[in-house]
Amino acid sequence: VQIVDRIFEPYIDQNTVENAILRVAKEINKDYDGKSIVFLGILNGAFMFCADLMKNIQVEADISFVKLSSYQGTKSGGTVHELIGLMQSLKNKHVVIVEDIVDTGLTLDKIFSMIDGDQPASVEVATLLFKPSAYKGSHVPKYIGIEIPDEFVVGYGMDYQGIGRNIPAIYKLKN
Ligand code: 5GP
Repeated sequence: VQIVDRIFEPYIDQNTVENAILRVAKEINKDYDGKSIVFLGILNGAFMFCADLMKNIQVEADISFVKLSSYQGTKSGGTVHELIGLMQSLKNKHVVIVEDIVDTGLTLDKIFSMIDGDQPASVEVATLLFKPSAYKGSHVPKYIGIEIPDEFVVGYGMDYQGIGRNIPAIYKLKN
């Protein structure tokens, strides 16, 4: 498929994505049995993963969102900008940060620094995709859907220049 000026090819099909989400949900249900969770979705990319993950969560769960941005085109810009901040106190809450994809880990480090002062009871990270070879952060996600090499991907909530988020499967940039 062509998105703006680039060609993307099929990479991870819808069924594989769904199975990864079910597995992550199962792990969270088990680990938080008897507890109450606040999911913290990172906009925009994580909206679809948040929705599908939450449908499979059986423990008590609330959700809140923050909006951050570091990407320009297909490369991380290095600095992470906070566009919409946290509007809910996380004090004494079990927080699960929900990311579409963890790449360098800069976004995650920024989120941890944003919420540390709130004194949550615990903080873990669930991400649909993880690029271990690009990662240089200090908060490795506990719940990982699928590990991928350092490819630029779109679909399932993820965009290229604002386009492609509605694609239900995951496509990668064709080299
Ligand atoms: P990090 O801060 O870990 O480098 O990047 C995290 C954010 O960058 C993700 O939430 C996502 O919005 C964006 N990002 C990282 N890798 C990709 C990618 O391969 N494709 C897209 N569309 N966005 C990405």
